[in-house]
Amino acid sequence: MRAAFILLIRQKLEEEQSVLRQHIVQCLHTHSDLNTKIILQQLTESDEQSWPELLATIYSEPLQQLRSRLEMVEAALSQIHIGQYGSCSDCEKTISSETLLMDPTEQRCAECKKHRRY
Ligand SMILES: [Zn+2]
Repeated sequence: MRAAFILLIRQKLEEEQSVLRQHIVQCLHTHSDLNTKIILQQLTESDEQSWPELLATIYSEPLQQLRSRLEMVEAALSQIHIGQYGSCSDCEKTISSETLLMDPTEQRCAECKKHRRY
């Protein structure tokens, strides 16, 4: 996969990551319980990678949606980091750039996605 393409994808992912984090913080501010306040405090102090982990204990549907998306974005970023981005997790073929541009967190090639049932 070309370096320029990876760079583009990385920018997209980092942009989405920062938007998701803003939404998560906004969402947390709508809760006033002590647990949420403690977590909010921890988020601002902690290493960025542990956000999904810290958020796991909050039972709020919109927040968990943001959290799971953040987890996917961070997983894709770490795949870029270790040089394993863009391979299908089922067949290990290279995922097409069209697919990755549509969703940079995609883990499966179009073919495997078709055969997979949820
Ligand atoms: Zn595949």
